[in-house]
Amino acid sequence: MAVLRFHALKEALDRKPVEVDESIKRSELFGENVFNESTMRQYLTKEAYQGVMSAIQHGTKIDRKIADQVASSMKDWALSKGVTHYTHWFQPLTGGTAEKHDAFFETIGNGLAVEKFGGSELVQQEPDASSFPNGGIRNTFEARGYTAWDPTSPAFIFGTTLSIPTIFVAYTGEALDNKTPLLRALQAIDKSATAVCKYFDKNVKKVTASLGWEQEYFLIDKALAASRPDIILTGRTLLGHSPAKGQQLDDHYFGSIPTRALNYMRDLETECMLLGIPVKTRHNEVAPNQFELAPIYEESNLAVDHNSLLMDVMGKVASRHNFKVLFHEKPFAGVNGSGKHNNWSLSTDTGINLLGPGKTPMSNLQFLTFFINTIKAVYDNEELLRATIASASNDHRLGANEAPPAIISVFIGEQLTKVLQELEGVTDGKLSPEEKTDLKLNVVGKIPDVLLDNTDRNRTSPFAFTGNKFEFRAVGSTANCAIPMTVLNTIVAKQLKDFKIEVDALIKKKDLKKDEAIFNVLREYIKSSKKILFEGNGYGAEWEKEAKKRGLSNNKTTPEALKAQISKKTLALYDEMEVMSKVEVEARHEIELEEYTMHIQIEGRVLGDIARNHVIPTAVKYQNMLIENVKGLKEIFEQDYKKEAGEQIKLIREISEHISEINSKINAMIEERKKANKLEGQKAADAYCNKVKPYFDDIRYHCDKLEIMIDDELWTLTKYREMLFTR
Ligand code: ADP
Ligand code: MG
Repeated sequence: MAVLRFHALKEALDRKPVEVDESIKRSELFGENVFNESTMRQYLTKEAYQGVMSAIQHGTKIDRKIADQVASSMKDWALSKGVTHYTHWFQPLTGGTAEKHDAFFETIGNGLAVEKFGGSELVQQEPDASSFPNGGIRNTFEARGYTAWDPTSPAFIFGTTLSIPTIFVAYTGEALDNKTPLLRALQAIDKSATAVCKYFDKNVKKVTASLGWEQEYFLIDKALAASRPDIILTGRTLLGHSPAKGQQLDDHYFGSIPTRALNYMRDLETECMLLGIPVKTRHNEVAPNQFELAPIYEESNLAVDHNSLLMDVMGKVASRHNFKVLFHEKPFAGVNGSGKHNNWSLSTDTGINLLGPGKTPMSNLQFLTFFINTIKAVYDNEELLRATIASASNDHRLGANEAPPAIISVFIGEQLTKVLQELEGVTDGKLSPEEKTDLKLNVVGKIPDVLLDNTDRNRTSPFAFTGNKFEFRAVGSTANCAIPMTVLNTIVAKQLKDFKIEVDALIKKKDLKKDEAIFNVLREYIKSSKKILFEGNGYGAEWEKEAKKRGLSNNKTTPEALKAQISKKTLALYDEMEVMSKVEVEARHEIELEEYTMHIQIEGRVLGDIARNHVIPTAVKYQNMLIENVKGLKEIFEQDYKKEAGEQIKLIREISEHISEINSKINAMIEERKKANKLEGQKAADAYCNKVKPYFDDIRYHCDKLEIMIDDELWTLTKYREMLFTR
């Protein structure tokens, strides 16, 4: 019998839901472990409080004296909560988070010790983080890396550690993390968007980009996950026959949440409350044992930190509930994969959502300005946007008839499509008073009504307008949102900057009124970027053809898609918007290519191992049983045995054929890996993508065939039905 599998199954079936205490109201728990504004007010001197607030709001520098005061108060606060250690918490280019704990404890001689934490420890640290990927930045400059406090994201306590969000940069200034470029992009969008806002309201001083992510994930019993080497080593199943029942009945989506999973969510949400992560929504997703969690949206930098922190906390809480949480975009073939929709909008310090239609024609012109500029930015940079969501794991999802395709397009709904069509007909140059009135009353003025009943939804669109925000849906569930958010904010910042220049030029040179100039420029943008608008079925084969005609890119694999990251156009964009230098961009490109290669390499090795160490031996065992059976039949029936043993003999043959196919395909795959390993960078990634990876499906096919032929009791690998339907 397959001991590990059946032990795991027994363990999983015997589990009871872990009890969770929710006696304290969430509003009371919220932010309890965060050094937020209200805690600062309580713990800091007025001077220190103002210093930090001004750094948050205006990016001013915090001087040494204030830093010392803040550190000392943070320490007092943390000690009052039983904290022993502190850490600079950062987001290296692995995509995850990193921390290195130091105790507050210090000796002061004479056998005495105290708890200490000064401004210098708060502001800057030099972790010997030399093993993080740096894409050659540190070798080139022989520079060390340091972490520096990001006061815009508040410190928090998890467990007994005070975590201080930081950026991670080389001494020569290059960013070694995902946060630094994001912060620069957020500055760029603030600058460009605020300048454009001034056409409509002189009082606007700051524009903030908001992000509301929706995290999808699978929950699998810990023992079952541990019985699958592929899940442990690659985060997904590399083989496994589809169960007779999958998601065909749609009976999981929004269904009643199984108790064990619900208790996990309640526990997780309690942790989130303490950490100030404003989680709000939870539900079952489409695939069995797939779920989703979404917060109330926040300022982008904070939202990104919260998502990274959440993913870490999710894993830890899962363990308490005897689950393993799977973030992989496609952990199981044949059922839906997981994404992480990034809902994005821009809002002013005067409280206006720039992507939400307003109450007056003028505020609606402002809405249209930001709406159309975003569409234009996406059109002009569709390939770069595609690159930001590229990864070995997201490749399984994009275009797999369940997730947005690899072609970037924008969905805006029928009503707004009509509005844009009308605007396309605006007169060139000066507008007559009649036309102006007509535009105000019948086009721009109608938008709020239009949007109220705009229930248009298109699940197949990678980038959809949903009433008061754009939803970037193609982002993968494992992604660090900083990467897509950096690009989105940068391209829109650049677009708004160009827009301002064009409008100003029309006002000055053609003597147009401000709104005339805006209408004129928007008209041209609609014309030049309407190829990106698509309302139809993004999964259909017709769309691929149509998109090709329109000249839109369709980069299906990561090595293909990543090329856009280092194009001349991209480098110029990042340089102009001061988001990343050439060195920083090239480093990230190199790291992502290498990560892709490693990923496929590991999957190839694991697949070869399981096929040879699990599947083939089990097949041989079963084949031997059949052989014994045939021998026995021959003994009893003598010459006549073939009539009785015909089916068994057929099975014996089939098993041999599958074994032989598996073996020869693994050998061929290993040969291709050897060749690929001699290559580097783009060439290595291409080889892994086009020469190695195609063997995965072949090998899997034969393994899965064996799975349904072989005695269930012998099969060592926990089956799909067991992983997906045990709860
Ligand atoms: P769904 O897309 O599943 O229908 P919602 O539209 O209610 O769900 O919200 C999904 C996410 O979008 C949530 O995280 C929510 O906070 C966020 N969101 C809502 N409004 C905005 C906005 N103006 N800007 C950014 N995110 C938003
Ligand atoms: Mg959504």
